[in-house]
Amino acid sequence: MGRPFLSDPAWVNKAEEGRSEDIQRCICCLRCMEYFQDHIMNGKPVGCAVNPRACRESEMMDAAPKNGGHRQIVIVGAGPAGLTAAKELAARDFKVTVLERQEEPGGQLLLAKMPPLKEKIAWPAETLARQALQEGAEIRYHVDATKEMINSYQPYAVILATGGEAVAPAIPGSDAENVVTVTPILMGEKKYQGKEIAVIGSGMTGLETAELLQIQGNRVTIIEMADKIAPGAYPVNADDVIGRLKKGGARFMPGRKLERISSNQLHLSRKDGVMESIATDATVLSIGVRSRNELEKEVSGCCDRLYVIGDAKKPGRIGDATRSAFEVARKIQ
Ligand SMILES: Cc1cc2nc3c(=O)[nH]c(=O)nc-3n(C[C@H](O)[C@H](O)[C@H](O)COP(=O)(O)OP(=O)(O)OC[C@H]3O[C@@H](n4cnc5c(N)ncnc54)[C@H](O)[C@@H]3O)c2cc1C
Ligand code: SF4
Repeated sequence: MGRPFLSDPAWVNKAEEGRSEDIQRCICCLRCMEYFQDHIMNGKPVGCAVNPRACRESEMMDAAPKNGGHRQIVIVGAGPAGLTAAKELAARDFKVTVLERQEEPGGQLLLAKMPPLKEKIAWPAETLARQALQEGAEIRYHVDATKEMINSYQPYAVILATGGEAVAPAIPGSDAENVVTVTPILMGEKKYQGKEIAVIGSGMTGLETAELLQIQGNRVTIIEMADKIAPGAYPVNADDVIGRLKKGGARFMPGRKLERISSNQLHLSRKDGVMESIATDATVLSIGVRSRNELEKEVSGCCDRLYVIGDAKKPGRIGDATRSAFEVARKIQ
């Protein structure tokens, strides 16, 4: 119960009161262990991806005065950042409206939950949406937020939590029909079976997508520009997936940069200048996320208080999104 108490210190009370759906469940992401390792030497506390108050509780005692006075806040995006802001501000008695273009909450977590053993990753969105509604926020789905729509609320503050999207680089040949980002693979819009597939990029998203493709009956090759697989990933998480990929026969090719794609051939350069080619039926690009924040330019000037949070500000992970939302929700007075 160590980690579940970090994600929700009221776990036992809520369970005893029969409110298990209100518990912010630990998603086993191990971000707390990363915080622990990073912070242990400089005296900073541990943190939790889904609970921005974790280990800062006493500092946060007066962080949420109920002084919203029903002033209108418009939040665009119902991913973990937008929902955290909605919950916190509605609890402070602001009138909160969340505009979301999809039919359900979660944002990128709806993609993140698709690979094997990742279903828990969507839990924070379920719980945060429920808590935001309980606090009185309104969440409107199927709404593509525009400047006019936001203006029509005459908001006291606007928060853009519009998230991020997969980067599709301009590599020669990457416009071919059999070259895709991870998004259509995870959404199930593009399906392969019995194929040779190259996954470009070995961050956690690339590795997890490769595992999904492997389970769907494909042979995968993971190509990474850095000298080692999963650079920057937390080793415990990476080793777990790499072990399963190896068991399934995946091939790993670190130290190779994708230069160009031509009729089912990938052309790769090595650091020593040697070029290599490998044959594939399809190529899946997993080389990062870019912020989606076109609305910022459009709405700037329409409201004195405009904030950009989460991946829309800087692509990161759940913990970065919830923290940035929490800080902005505290700042609005
Ligand atoms: C495949 C994958 C796996 C991941 N795995 C992990 C992981 O294991 N651990 C981890 O910590 N992080 C993971 N992440 C990262 C994590 O999902 C993001 O950091 C997090 O979701 C960012 O939250 P956000 O609220 O800022 O944005 P998002 O989750 O992107 O949400 C933005 C929302 O805004 C909506 N929106 C955008 N524009 C508009 C508009 N104009 N009108 C209305 N709505 C709009 C979108 O529909 C979306 O719902 C993963 C990401 C991906 C893609
Ligand atoms: S950081 Fe992740 S693993 Fe750690 S307690 Fe929070 S949700 Fe659980």
